[in-house]
Amino acid sequence: MEMGDVIIIGSGVAALQLATMLSHDKNVKILTKSHIKNANSYLAQGGIAAAIGDHDDTKKHLADTLQAGRFHNNEESVREILNEAPALISDFYEIFDKDQHGHLLLGQEGAHSVNRIVHSGGDATGKHIIEHLISKLTDNIEVEENMFAYELMIDHKQQRCVGVKAKDQRGITRYFYGDYVILATGGCGQLYPITSNAPTVTGDGIAMAYLAGAEIADMEFIQFHPTLLFKDGEAKGLISEAVRGEGAILVTGDGVPIMEGIHPLKDLAPRHVVSQTIYNYIENGHEVYLDIRSIKNFGKRFPSITANCEKNGIDLSEGKIPVVPGSHFLMGGIKTDLMGRTSIHGLFAIGEVACTGLHGANRLASNSLLEGLYQGKKLSQWINANFKKHSILDLPEPCPSISTKRGSLPDVRVLKEMMMKRVGIVRSKELLEEQKHWLDQFHLYDVTHLDAYSVQDITRIFMYITASLITEAALCRTESRGGHFRSDFPFEDDQNWYKKIIIQKRKGEVAIKYEQIEAALVN
Ligand SMILES: Cc1cc2nc3c(=O)[nH]c(=O)nc-3n(C[C@H](O)[C@H](O)[C@H](O)COP(=O)(O)OP(=O)(O)OC[C@H]3O[C@@H](n4cnc5c(N)ncnc54)[C@H](O)[C@@H]3O)c2cc1C
Repeated sequence: MEMGDVIIIGSGVAALQLATMLSHDKNVKILTKSHIKNANSYLAQGGIAAAIGDHDDTKKHLADTLQAGRFHNNEESVREILNEAPALISDFYEIFDKDQHGHLLLGQEGAHSVNRIVHSGGDATGKHIIEHLISKLTDNIEVEENMFAYELMIDHKQQRCVGVKAKDQRGITRYFYGDYVILATGGCGQLYPITSNAPTVTGDGIAMAYLAGAEIADMEFIQFHPTLLFKDGEAKGLISEAVRGEGAILVTGDGVPIMEGIHPLKDLAPRHVVSQTIYNYIENGHEVYLDIRSIKNFGKRFPSITANCEKNGIDLSEGKIPVVPGSHFLMGGIKTDLMGRTSIHGLFAIGEVACTGLHGANRLASNSLLEGLYQGKKLSQWINANFKKHSILDLPEPCPSISTKRGSLPDVRVLKEMMMKRVGIVRSKELLEEQKHWLDQFHLYDVTHLDAYSVQDITRIFMYITASLITEAALCRTESRGGHFRSDFPFEDDQNWYKKIIIQKRKGEVAIKYEQIEAALVN
């Protein structure tokens, strides 16, 4: 049994920002299931959005965020986070790219009305932020790598989360108790066969929180990034939106531009619009490419993308990069307030695993590192100011030897294929019901004891649970909005659907409730 003041699960931007900003008298444990850098944060290319340019202000950033989020956002959360963005950027000022006068260079990305994306190393923003945060880790912070967290421990007398069970590399269960337990486990991109996400991002935190009884919101809203590098039938990494921001356009194999006449912003239209357009072309037998011929010094502006293309045998001198859309970002997650408080005392969620309402139905590019930095900082300030030791009244019994009746587990490869086909970029009642029916055969929605399973099998169970939550929510929402597109309900329906879908496990049953949205409906 191990005790800490603060237990943080995950090692992305949100986790490391929190850990490094907690006061040094706190005993902090970071549990991460792989290597510390194996996270989406490390892969982030484009940068961080903040209204700091001469022709920009928070109002414009707010308008762009609400527009991309299709007004499903929590306007108060958006306002608060965007107001803080310039200060958060200045905390990391030294690592961002600047011109010869020391002014931050501001890039452009889809659905931003002005240039407002700060970046580092051209297209290596995430890597530089994470390395900077790792360099700030102090002795009071212990990082446990290859530590797979799998079950939140709840003190039933106090209805409070008091810790988490985790399996080490040998598969041995370890018990970590803490006064504050924070999930920072990222989204669930790996639920789909084509994804930009790191291999570790499999929806674990959402499934753990669901099993513990937390409220889960907005799971139908998945962002599919329009441009993943496509080679030999597989996604080979992301081609940042900043490439289109610098002038690249999407074309067919014959060079026909595909975004003409689709949206006023053409190639910089919101991601769901671009993804659906590419998807339709591919479904109709076309190949789609990014034509980068108009970008001068491509290799200098995008060194990581260039290196990745070369590694995968793409000859950039031809000016064409083959692309395909793939799962990229989860707008929904564990329902929290701005600081990360969930519906369970003592349990917090920050970063992509959380649903604060910032992103609404579709994330505005480069707003998510920002959210992780914001929540990590905000929660650290709150814990520093309000820290209290909590006694454990009803210590959950260690029960590593419980043998569980094993249900059959879905094959991960098939699960991913089915999610793409039926709960992917284009959905319908028929496809979603097929998927629900397929998922129902496994009866894993209500697993309680996971100790007897291997890490690999628990991961399958977590992916199954997260896939079920997405399917359930997508079936409920009979309209199209942001990242959720239903071919049988192709339009937004503000009259009936200006609300959130919240799913919670109550008394072993799946309970669904609806909550009115509080943002201004300015269309
Ligand atoms: C290729 C790519 C490019 C991107 N570019 C940008 C960009 O330019 N700008 C932007 O704002 N956003 C970008 N994003 C999105 C952004 O990177 C993520 O939303 C953000 O980094 C998420 O940070 P996080 O701290 O919530 O989680 P992550 O960085 O995803 O980290 C999750 C952590 O949790 C750990 N973990 C998961 N499950 C467990 C478990 N069971 N036990 C223990 N540990 C666990 C993982 O190993 C990992 O360390 C990009 C994403 C990708 C994939």
